Amino acid sequence: MRLPDSVRIREVGPRDGIQSEKADVSTTDKITLIDALSATGLRYIEAVSFVSPKAIPQMADARSVWEGIDRRPGVSYSALVPNRKGAEIAVEVGVDAMQVFIAATDSYNLKNVNRTVEESLSDVAEVVAVARSATIPVEGTISTAFGCPYEGDVAPRRVAQVSRWMADEGIGSISYGDTTGMGTPRRVVEVIEAVRAELPDLDLNMHFHDTRGTGLANVLAALQMGIDYFDASIGGMGGSPYAQGATGNVATEDLVHMVEDMGVSTGVDLEGLLDAARLAQGLISGPLPSKVLTAGPRWDVAGPVTKAG
Ligand code: MG
Repeated sequence: MRLPDSVRIREVGPRDGIQSEKADVSTTDKITLIDALSATGLRYIEAVSFVSPKAIPQMADARSVWEGIDRRPGVSYSALVPNRKGAEIAVEVGVDAMQVFIAATDSYNLKNVNRTVEESLSDVAEVVAVARSATIPVEGTISTAFGCPYEGDVAPRRVAQVSRWMADEGIGSISYGDTTGMGTPRRVVEVIEAVRAELPDLDLNMHFHDTRGTGLANVLAALQMGIDYFDASIGGMGGSPYAQGATGNVATEDLVHMVEDMGVSTGVDLEGLLDAARLAQGLISGPLPSKVLTAGPRWDVAGPVTKAG
């Protein structure tokens, strides 16, 4: 089994995670969480989104959160932005990177922003233009890449087509979101193959959910395809409004715990992550779905155990 020597992990708990949680997390607590995460060795943190506070009230304090965090050298703090307005705020506050998102399916995109996927490409173009003029890296996100709550299965060739559209607007890195938790290893392989056939030089990020228990299996399938860039959320915080039950994003500590033991370096301190996960659990006042948070790392058991990494 040939796996990458190391992977990049983008921590999405402070944005994707908190945004999907019902608990009202204070600005100070969001800042504390981001600072705890940056201390673990994570080099990519999706910190906030600059979206309409009417649409996403949990991110209404994004500016204050941004201003309050302790910007650790070597860490790239990014913001999710839907359009030019969001991108302009991101430039104004000085983000290290931004992500612009569209869906793979028209039904989902229409429900989300009342426009088709192709119509949304003008937003992508505007975000790219704003980011470029400020020399800030911009990445793309395609949601519903492994299934749509309205259209069901999404053809891998459709995902490749939307990727092509984004790439044509100047996007060189795309994150594939399993919004509905419908992904399985087979479907992950099919999407990666289709996208690579269309765009061999694209940098692919995988954003998996563990809604149906396939999160880490999907990570392994992607690793075996040579993917070295993953999204994960501290404690498994967050998820999708389309998922029944609580589980959503793959937990950062579960991902780190698994791949480090397989010889794949993450640069992240697991004990520090577990501290951050406990902190996150306190903020949402409920148990988080992370398995390693619940059971402890494998070297916590009695007897001789190798701590890899
Ligand atoms: Mg997610």
